[in-house]
Amino acid sequence: MYDLILRNARLVDDTVIDIALKDGKIAALGEVTGETRAQRQLNGEYYVSAGWIDSHVHCYPKSPIYHDEPDSIGIHTGVTTVVDAGSTGADDIDEFYALTRSAQTDVYALLNISRVGLITQNELSDMANIDKVAARDAVKRYPDFIVGIKARMSSSVVGANGIKPLAYAKAIQRENGDLPLMVHIGNNPPDLDEIADLLSSGDIITHCYNGKPNRILTPAGELRASIVSAIQRGVRLDVGHGTASFSFEVAKIAIGKGILPHTISSDIYCRNRINGPVHSLGVVMSKFLSLGMSLPQVIDCVTIHAADGLRLANKGRLSVGLDGDLTIFAKRRRLTVFTDSENQTLQGEQQLVALAAVRAGKWFLTEKGKEEHAFDL
Ligand SMILES: [Zn+2]
Repeated sequence: MYDLILRNARLVDDTVIDIALKDGKIAALGEVTGETRAQRQLNGEYYVSAGWIDSHVHCYPKSPIYHDEPDSIGIHTGVTTVVDAGSTGADDIDEFYALTRSAQTDVYALLNISRVGLITQNELSDMANIDKVAARDAVKRYPDFIVGIKARMSSSVVGANGIKPLAYAKAIQRENGDLPLMVHIGNNPPDLDEIADLLSSGDIITHCYNGKPNRILTPAGELRASIVSAIQRGVRLDVGHGTASFSFEVAKIAIGKGILPHTISSDIYCRNRINGPVHSLGVVMSKFLSLGMSLPQVIDCVTIHAADGLRLANKGRLSVGLDGDLTIFAKRRRLTVFTDSENQTLQGEQQLVALAAVRAGKWFLTEKGKEEHAFDL
């Protein structure tokens, strides 16, 4: 007996299948027969993918600067898994963990290498905040919650310490089973070349298409040699749109040269969710359709690639036995003017709208789905 069957779900390759869930997992795919407690007819009208994973968000409700509620940026917008990127360090990870247990969204954390987390904007300006023992103990306490570590390497964060915190981050990474390391780039110093040279396979550069002088392009519009070589070594590029870190101009040039993001993430928190320019992961994904990426490419960035980059082995794919996380969405033809973090605009013709989600086998309507009375019987 299945718990739920989605009938006639359209996948992004346009095949139409049934998806059955049982005990919170994907139990069968294809033409599914058998008894079920509940079912939903999608009639090939809606797309279904593995649940969307946002690799870079901020959802520690108690953060004084970048706060939000996990479900407001997660399940209410069709995102089944969110990864908080360094809002908390060793000092407040316990409280963050406890708060996330009541969320319907699956929440994970990248531990800030600064033990104080994002209490202020300059958490790495005092080297005493980088406490290797405290970091190691935090990872030991929450091995299934902390999926990686985060270092914010921009001038306002590191103060006079330059590149030094990144060397510490690499040491913390080595001492903790080579956890994925996400590095934020922003204003220099430290210079992006210096940062990129220290990164190795599996490390993630977030804010990869930022429009600041520390961008991945040279003033002549070529990809920096340090970035070419980092990508060849297996360093991954994450979008991390955010309030100040995404430029259409940079993304357009990079994508034109074949430099696609590995992961599309939002860097969302209450302010850039409500006032823009982020709004939701779905809006950020729609911007990449307008920049010329295909629907399967965009979906891979929030499913397979996101799961692989953060080693979420039970997520990101439609396979029997994996977590029963799905996003049900529509691709609508709608003329839209999108805005980036530089206040530049781009006209798009398509919008991805998440209408429902299944998280651990349980059906949820998104805010949009409720508004539109989608799936009313
Ligand atoms: Zn961030």
